[in-house]
Amino acid sequence: MEDFADDFYSVSCPGCEAEVTIAVSDYGCYAAIRDWDQGDIERRSLRPATDEELRGSGRWMHTTACRDGQQRLAEGIRYVFGRAECPACTSVFSLAEAHTTANLPPALETF
Ligand SMILES: [Zn+2]
Repeated sequence: MEDFADDFYSVSCPGCEAEVTIAVSDYGCYAAIRDWDQGDIERRSLRPATDEELRGSGRWMHTTACRDGQQRLAEGIRYVFGRAECPACTSVFSLAEAHTTANLPPALETF
């Protein structure tokens, strides 16, 4: 399984339906608005899930990654199943719930 290097995907904000780019990468873990000219603007740090907040498939993936000694992957899973602040309307939403209406990041498709 791959790590999260350069993993970018987009979700639709449940508050304002803006397309929010989510980055879980070596360059940072953030939510942003992707601008074709300026790149990712209005960046907001992602809020990683705590052990208590990891549920269902997220918890299972995290446990599996830890068991296999894949610490970077385990940390990435915390972000993917954590929360993001929408740069457009500042509402905070669960990425795990946003995933149900969008594709999972490529690194998780093998699960
Ligand atoms: Zn929004």
